[in-house]
Amino acid sequence: MKYCPHCGAEIADDVRFCPTCGKEIDPPVVVIEPDPQFDAQDIADNRMLAMLGYLTCGILPMIGCRNSAFAMHHVNQALWIFIGSIVVSVAMGVLAFTVIVPVLGVACLIALFVFEIMGIVRALKGSGKYLPFVKKLPVIIK
Ligand SMILES: [Zn+2]
Repeated sequence: MKYCPHCGAEIADDVRFCPTCGKEIDPPVVVIEPDPQFDAQDIADNRMLAMLGYLTCGILPMIGCRNSAFAMHHVNQALWIFIGSIVVSVAMGVLAFTVIVPVLGVACLIALFVFEIMGIVRALKGSGKYLPFVKKLPVIIK
């Protein structure tokens, strides 16, 4: 089952035009798989802003779609990645003389970068799946 990238309506896999809004379905760029825990319209409207949250520390979605539960889910993850990067960077600077902390720090920063890419892809796909570890962390923005 596919979803219209313009209005979020369910569409058959082989249609070229959405029967609900009439717009052309682009050749598959990112197949949207809306997460049932969020509103399909919310995902269709706000997934681009949710994705941009990872590149702006959550600022763009907080300005553009503060009421979107889907975008705020991703803002939380973006903020935890941001906080994680700061904590790791500070620890690397303060404990630079220990050698082991900077080495582990680089590994952590690479992992955080991978999480960020995963978050971007999931936001675009309409997925609300949690990134590793983030599920256990407190919610910053509701
Ligand atoms: Zn449509």
